[in-house]
Amino acid sequence: MPTDMTPDGKSAQSLAPLGPGATIGILGGGQLARMLTMAAHRLGLKTHIFCPDTESPAFEVTPHHTRAAYSDADALDRFARSVERVTYEFENIPVGAIAILEQHCPVMPGAKALAICQDRLAEKRFLSGLGLVVAPFLPVETMVDLNQARQRLAAPAILKTRRLGYDGKGQQHIGTDTESGAAIAALAGAGAVLEEFVDFDAEISIILARGTNGEMASYDPARNTHENHILATSTVPAGLPAHVSKMATRIAEKIATAFEYVGVLGVEFFLCGETLIVNEIAPRVHNSGHWTEAACAASQFEQHIRAVAGWPLADPVRHADAVMQNLIGDQVRAVAAGESVPGCKIHLYGKNEIRPGRKMGHLTRLTARAR
Ligand code: AMP
Repeated sequence: MPTDMTPDGKSAQSLAPLGPGATIGILGGGQLARMLTMAAHRLGLKTHIFCPDTESPAFEVTPHHTRAAYSDADALDRFARSVERVTYEFENIPVGAIAILEQHCPVMPGAKALAICQDRLAEKRFLSGLGLVVAPFLPVETMVDLNQARQRLAAPAILKTRRLGYDGKGQQHIGTDTESGAAIAALAGAGAVLEEFVDFDAEISIILARGTNGEMASYDPARNTHENHILATSTVPAGLPAHVSKMATRIAEKIATAFEYVGVLGVEFFLCGETLIVNEIAPRVHNSGHWTEAACAASQFEQHIRAVAGWPLADPVRHADAVMQNLIGDQVRAVAAGESVPGCKIHLYGKNEIRPGRKMGHLTRLTARAR
């Protein structure tokens, strides 16, 4: 059965828009699910969060939740029967879970985007197949693969696990004197991709939404900085020539169209001169789109809920210039203690435990729109 069909034969495209009070199921219970839930409630829709964690920031704001493993077929079945649509806040959901859910209701974005985006190798092959530029890469499973890949690719390079990597997790820098044996041992049997290091001028991202009828709306590109591989700031406008912004948007549209995507999609790029190299795709709302909550009439979270609900997309126009700063670990303390941050919209995620590298909240500083 195609991924956008339900057993009763209705395609996602032909499904009626959700009415007031309908319930959207969300897989995952982190801050993204929390913000999606808050946006859904503002639109008069309800949410049901499915998450295996005991403490989940989204549980606190949702009327319904299920705490169960993504492998619990009975729990997934009950969950799917209690909602009109299902979406997800992260890409590491087992594809088998989606297959169970799709027996009862549409899952948006579909299993195709999920399957490709949760595997770096599949993602890079998919992007190359669309004619898009990615950093030169080769698959690596064994020491022989790694040594061959090191001969064929320029140094330095980055060895990234195919699955479950985020915020730099599962990544190793491979310089000319790095020992291949140690690098392979650190993979602990996981498949990987060796990718050339890109000496980029900037990192930018596009947050795009695609509706059930194929209409698309993109927010302005953001210029992103990272610290310790974790997003630190997103700045809009990104200070790009208009034709580069347009090209980035066209690339994101090409990806969304190829996936027959429904919902919000994040596309991260390295900018080298005027060349846009696609680094990564996120089939979900994205941290570099958090500024939209403060600087646009409709945030990426509202936009995603609108798309999944089958509603028309909102105008992604920006009413202010914005700098979003992530509050990582201890950085949240001053803000949580009430320190004044004039001109900033504050959003804290309600996480009880502060840990190094943990995303605890974000600030968005707004200034009058310059252009
Ligand atoms: P990723 O998890 O692949 O998005 O990587 C996290 C961050 O690591 C990126 O946003 C970059 O700052 C850096 N990074 C990842 N891959 C490369 C690369 N091939 N060349 C240079 N920097 C990279």
